[in-house]
Amino acid sequence: MLDKVLIANRGEIALRILRACKELGIKTVAVHSKADRELMHVRLADEAVCIGPASSAQSYLNIPALISAAEVTDSTAIHPGYGFLSENANFAEQVERSGFTFIGPRAETIRLMGDKVSAIQSMKEAGVPTVPGSDGPLGDDDAVNLATAMRIGYPIIIKAASGGGGRGMRVVHTEGHLLSAITVTRTEAQAAFGDGTVYMEKFLEKPRHVEVQVLADGQGNAIHLYDRDCSLQRRHQKVLEEAPAPGLDQKAREQVLEACRQACIKINYRGAGTFEFLYEDGKYFFIEMNTRVQVEHPVTEMVTGVDIVKEQLRIASGLPLSIRQEDVKIAGHSFECRINAEDARTFMPSPGKVTLFHSPGGLGVRMDSHLYTGYTVPPHYDSLIGKLITWGADREIALTRMRNALDELLVEGIKTNIDLQKDLVRDSHFREGGVNIHYLEKKLGG
Ligand code: ADP
Repeated sequence: MLDKVLIANRGEIALRILRACKELGIKTVAVHSKADRELMHVRLADEAVCIGPASSAQSYLNIPALISAAEVTDSTAIHPGYGFLSENANFAEQVERSGFTFIGPRAETIRLMGDKVSAIQSMKEAGVPTVPGSDGPLGDDDAVNLATAMRIGYPIIIKAASGGGGRGMRVVHTEGHLLSAITVTRTEAQAAFGDGTVYMEKFLEKPRHVEVQVLADGQGNAIHLYDRDCSLQRRHQKVLEEAPAPGLDQKAREQVLEACRQACIKINYRGAGTFEFLYEDGKYFFIEMNTRVQVEHPVTEMVTGVDIVKEQLRIASGLPLSIRQEDVKIAGHSFECRINAEDARTFMPSPGKVTLFHSPGGLGVRMDSHLYTGYTVPPHYDSLIGKLITWGADREIALTRMRNALDELLVEGIKTNIDLQKDLVRDSHFREGGVNIHYLEKKLGG
């Protein structure tokens, strides 16, 4: 087993990783910016190192500072969490080159999946269903691009190959807007991601977002942990998730789960990963793979009993998977509400001092959060301050528990989205299951 893990992240996920390390008897190193001295996991870690000023670019994204911190603390491995450097192939490479274990896939896998065009291509070859599209990057020939769009059929979506976090996408409804949309997306992608490569896909009008969690040990073993539905999104950002995804076509579902598992074996995947799909009219369409632990991983843990972060640590230690596919069983249902420090109307981040924090509890209730009364949410980072997760023997019980748990949850002193979540878990369409990815924005009047 790994001896000492440096946690290259902050907030709730840093605490989540710390807990898994502690359970496995692994020593922990917290790294933090000057603005993050008060983080809960910094108090709990065996060692803590300040890696730079508040700005992410100079701290959590500062590769030399992170590697130096690993060196001075004699760490054996680095866990990147999600966001920040978690899907940065250069970081993974430099970590390994400096003699540390990167807790995640090999750098070349991250690179392959980080480029959506190459990711789609390799998934297609592995037998995973993809969205009808341009089958590669768009060139400069206007006539060819117009013909490609015609073949796919409008509406289409132009996407940046290096896009992420819901950025770098543009929907085109009519031919007259196609060429200018390609130019604008290209320019934006070049500015935002340093890569102007764009491609085209059919824009699906009422899909759900269904994703498949996988684990693979890089030694020929891979399993899937079934699926999650993350259709409730605002600006392509997930808000409320559940596992398993309800009301799927069972035959298509089984085929896709197995295709994901096989794809992992085919690309010799290592670590935890997620295949993201759009699901419409009983059909699946692959859109991208995330090569890291995801924010919403707890709902899968609740229904499968598999500790995904502990598995990541075991895999990074060189151990084979501890579970076989036939041993993975789904029990009950789980929901996760993302709790953000944000203004209810404008959705702008709302940092500040938390004057009261009370976490709900009881059977089937889990709170993954770094908050405590007196903690000040800094203005420099993501507004996620916690995740409220419930489990129940069936969907209705899990949802009832979520309603009650949200009523119990108290965060005072800052603005949060708790009222929005209370509203969502009482929404009749959501309660029925299977709302599409546009539902939340329509409901919000967007
Ligand atoms: P990112 O890497 O930025 O998260 P994704 O490719 O995962 O980008 O897409 C994010 C979201 O954008 C999806 O969950 C979905 O809501 C929407 N989206 C992406 N591709 C399509 C498509 N072809 N048709 C309709 N919606 C799409």
